Amino acid sequence: MLAKRIPTILPKLSFEEALEVTKIHSIAGKLSNSFPIVSTRPFRNPHHTISKSSLIGGGKIPKPGEVSLAHNGVLFLDELPEFNKDVLEVLRVPIEDGKVTLSRVLSTVTYPCNFMLVASMNPCMCGYYGSDKKCKCTEESIRRYIGKISGPMLDRVDIQIEVNSIKYEKLNSNEYIETSNEIRKRVNFAREIQQQRYKKYGIFSNSELTPKLIEKYCKLDKESKSILEKAFDRLGLSARAHERILKVSRTLADMEGKLNIEKNHILEAISYRSLDKKYWRA
Ligand SMILES: [Zn+2]
Repeated sequence: MLAKRIPTILPKLSFEEALEVTKIHSIAGKLSNSFPIVSTRPFRNPHHTISKSSLIGGGKIPKPGEVSLAHNGVLFLDELPEFNKDVLEVLRVPIEDGKVTLSRVLSTVTYPCNFMLVASMNPCMCGYYGSDKKCKCTEESIRRYIGKISGPMLDRVDIQIEVNSIKYEKLNSNEYIETSNEIRKRVNFAREIQQQRYKKYGIFSNSELTPKLIEKYCKLDKESKSILEKAFDRLGLSARAHERILKVSRTLADMEGKLNIEKNHILEAISYRSLDKKYWRA
């Protein structure tokens, strides 16, 4: 159900992005006469039994894997700890580099794979650990389950959100809830700002900013700088997390159409890094 509905609400694909995606799908043999061009943002959700080569690409004549088929789109991994730990670990380099190089005896091929990784997981096997319902798992089994996601892997997740079960009263309330289409409009707006801003660099979004461009476009005022510095020490953040918080803050500012990153943007971006403190280092 989710897989069918999400593509319609993903942000629009620009012409340049569509060309890149179409090329990859063509090499993978995914195009046909009735489907000659990819015009919507890819949404790939491989099953947790997927092999390393199907995920990152492979074969005698190396073909793109799911990470490249998700280029300029979303790679959704449902129930993350169910995936083989080795399979998850091979994701680290593609996430970092936005490309994957496949070496064979006769040839070496590099495919782009600039995808947004979206993953979901329960905190334990029964799903109730940390909630107001009683968890039936042992401490050891919780540690083993969560431990399938390594610290370095989690460090590459910019936005970590805990979603609690919805209370019955909430389902029946008349409270206004923003629709997916309304959210899509806001996201398209922010993406258009980024596409314009980075036109001359050949990149499309904040996630692709190099350290040099971060310096140029993610400037902080004195107060925001001091907030980030304190959070860095208190939460024991890595250098990678520092960069990524700046990029997320830039996106939050763009969502509001703000020229500069403000204090509330930096605070919100830092708050998205709190999940690992609750479950992984408890
Ligand atoms: Zn449990």
